[in-house]
Amino acid sequence: MFLDIKGELKFLRGNQKGKEGIIFNIQRYSIHDGPGIRTTVFLKGCPLKCRWCSNPESINPFPELFLRKERCDQCGQCLDICIPKAISYDNDHIQINRVNCNLCMKCIEVCPLNVMNSIGKKASINEIISEVMQDELFYNNSGGGVTISGGEPLFQLEFTLNLLKEFKKRSLHTTIDTTGYAKCEDFEKILPFTDLLLFDIKHLDSEIHQKETGVANHIILKNFKNCLKKGIKIWVRIPIIPNFNDSNQYIAKLAKLLSKEPIEKISLLKYHEWGKHKYNYLDRVYPLKDTNFISDEQIQEIKSIIESYGLKVTIDY
Ligand code: SF4
Ligand code: SF4
Repeated sequence: MFLDIKGELKFLRGNQKGKEGIIFNIQRYSIHDGPGIRTTVFLKGCPLKCRWCSNPESINPFPELFLRKERCDQCGQCLDICIPKAISYDNDHIQINRVNCNLCMKCIEVCPLNVMNSIGKKASINEIISEVMQDELFYNNSGGGVTISGGEPLFQLEFTLNLLKEFKKRSLHTTIDTTGYAKCEDFEKILPFTDLLLFDIKHLDSEIHQKETGVANHIILKNFKNCLKKGIKIWVRIPIIPNFNDSNQYIAKLAKLLSKEPIEKISLLKYHEWGKHKYNYLDRVYPLKDTNFISDEQIQEIKSIIESYGLKVTIDY
């Protein structure tokens, strides 16, 4: 089984042959997802489960409910409308049985306090194109364009491919922000329409990678090599996570390896907890409880080590 989580990928690939996809955000005026001013389209669905993930809503490929329990005054309106009886009160808090919930989203319509929100929605190629093209002038003036991120954009391969083709027809600069975890032949399909890859290298040791992200890294490193061989422009993204990949020794080993490749730059992403509250909204436990932060001094030291191997490095968000 490869990327086929309970047939979900099959569902997404059959989604009107990639004319529609499930997205969870479109962010205009992005300045960290490639060159210039960009619009970033965030697709749902990811084969990895990184313990530090700050977008836990990106993992499940389907729409989900965010539940802000603290807002609820127990008026009871959502209980009445919920046909599968998935809503209840427990210890004075509203609860949703997510197994029974059929995502009809009716509770969102009746709740006067916006306790529930739908995360993720179907979007057509045309809808996305028309939103992205609104900022064409900014892209032209800044050397920017459009970035497809996630989740993992290749999780919804046909949709991503169709989007890329449409963007290229409009002469936009295209960037894919990828975990690298996809079939090699899927990468082959998107590369002719991709100007830049933001390619995550999380850890070189496959066992450690598996433990912290849920998948081994062999296919990621293979895709990385293949993309370089094909001359694709790459910015390597490295999330710097305490006690995972932040030791000076490991960073030097990685930098030495990367310095042999024609990489345009390295982008360091410092661990943060900005997404922690979203785990609560999804009734999930935040996996990295009580983890230390990376100090400004430490990230600067990591930057200097990598730079000492002749690589260009930026600290991004
Ligand atoms: S989305 Fe529908 S099924 Fe789910 S909790 Fe709300 S009303 Fe009930
Ligand atoms: S409708 Fe909103 S405020 Fe009322 S019980 Fe349901 S979640 Fe709480």
